[in-house]
Amino acid sequence: MAAYKYPDFIRQAYHYSFDIAVGPGEPAQNSGIYRCDGCGCEIIAGNGESLPPQSHHRHKPGEGDIRWRLIVATD
Ligand SMILES: [Zn+2]
Repeated sequence: MAAYKYPDFIRQAYHYSFDIAVGPGEPAQNSGIYRCDGCGCEIIAGNGESLPPQSHHRHKPGEGDIRWRLIVATD
């Protein structure tokens, strides 16, 4: 799980971009930290960079497909 120490440097936002989960290899629509909905692993991607491919990691049965969701956006 992503963590931070100083709350003055991060704020809550309600933008719809946090509600979208995209598949492996798709372009990141924002720079920031992305989390896999299936297993919880986290990665960093820059705006327009490809999110990690299907071969990035394996899921256990029951974790479903790899779907990347923005959890922390950077300016
Ligand atoms: Zn995963």
